Amino acid sequence: MLDSLSNSLKDAVKKLAGKAVVDRAAVDELVRDLQRALIQADVNVKLVMGLSQSIKKRALEEELPKGMGVRDHVLRIVYQELVSLMGPEAEVSLKPQTILMAGLQGSGKTTTTAKLCRYFQRKGLKVGAICCDNFRPGAFTQLQTLCQRINVPIYGDPKEKDALRIVKNGLTALRDVEVIIVDTAGRHALEDDLIEEIMQINAIVKPSHRWLVIDAALGQAARDQARRFHEAIGIDGVVITKMDGTAKGGGALSAVAETNSSIVFIGSGETIDDLERFEPNGFISRMLG
Ligand code: GDP
Repeated sequence: MLDSLSNSLKDAVKKLAGKAVVDRAAVDELVRDLQRALIQADVNVKLVMGLSQSIKKRALEEELPKGMGVRDHVLRIVYQELVSLMGPEAEVSLKPQTILMAGLQGSGKTTTTAKLCRYFQRKGLKVGAICCDNFRPGAFTQLQTLCQRINVPIYGDPKEKDALRIVKNGLTALRDVEVIIVDTAGRHALEDDLIEEIMQINAIVKPSHRWLVIDAALGQAARDQARRFHEAIGIDGVVITKMDGTAKGGGALSAVAETNSSIVFIGSGETIDDLERFEPNGFISRMLG
């Protein structure tokens, strides 16, 4: 997403260089280029339209700050509006906490659970994971293998059918751990029993955070998924995975808008260290160059 969007945005803004006043035609052209770039990156049309309007209005109405050129003035507005599209910067506390992971099968939940264990472990915290995904065969072994490599304890019971019992036992088994990440079961689609189960798990765990894992390539379906999970358990952060594998990724922004939350982390590869904290200012700065 970053590269193609970044190139289009840079080209669009370049056209304003050397202009003495902000003229409507130039702003219209910039906004059109911006729209094209964002829609190509799969950002929801409604979000793009809202952003376009704010940029146009501000670029034409706000007074040019003293000593600032037209290009920099408009660039600053584009920058600020893009940052607000990404949601506010999410805080990740380093206190003892429990994080419940939600998302559909294949989104990268299990991998992200292990990556998060690594993240908090590197920050010096005692970490553990609970695997209550007894729906996808192999989920427990996958998490176990990843966590064993980094010496993180994991609780799970692949023979136990009742995810709620696993969670309860897991919380007891990991009572000495400071940060517990709970990996839940996904499904191929948003089925009622999945939502029902995660609501029950949420009620037992009473987690500090409920993070939704979204595949960057998901596109507009991200919105429906986000809405269902948000209605069920109140999502307060989004992790976008597989950003390394797509030129798009903008669809996942709908999940942020839908849950009124922020992107907490970005998954950028298959290894346990391929997890980046998301910081909107830096992200947009890199994008606008
Ligand atoms: P789950 O069903 O949601 O638990 O999904 P998994 O954690 O098993 O991930 C599904 C696939 O996506 C696996 O092959 C992972 O290696 C891969 N995956 C997860 N996160 C990333 C990422 O950030 N980048 C890449 N390239 N692959 C990822």
